[in-house]
Amino acid sequence: MGQRKLSSVVCPNCKRPVKPQECNRKALSKRYVLVTYCCPRCGAELLTEHLEIA
Ligand SMILES: [Zn+2]
Repeated sequence: MGQRKLSSVVCPNCKRPVKPQECNRKALSKRYVLVTYCCPRCGAELLTEHLEIA
C-alpha cells in the first residue's frame, strides 16, 4: 500500500546504479504524500514522487 517497486537509477554521487530507498515521507494532504527516495550508499536525494494513499 503506497509502496511501489523502483528500478535502479545511477546515483550522481556514487556513479553507480543503486536501488532508491525511501528516506523521507511528507503528508501533503489527506490523500497524498510526497515520498523522497535516497541513495542507500551515500544518502543523496535521487527522486521524489507523489503517492496517493489508498
Ligand atoms: Zn550515492
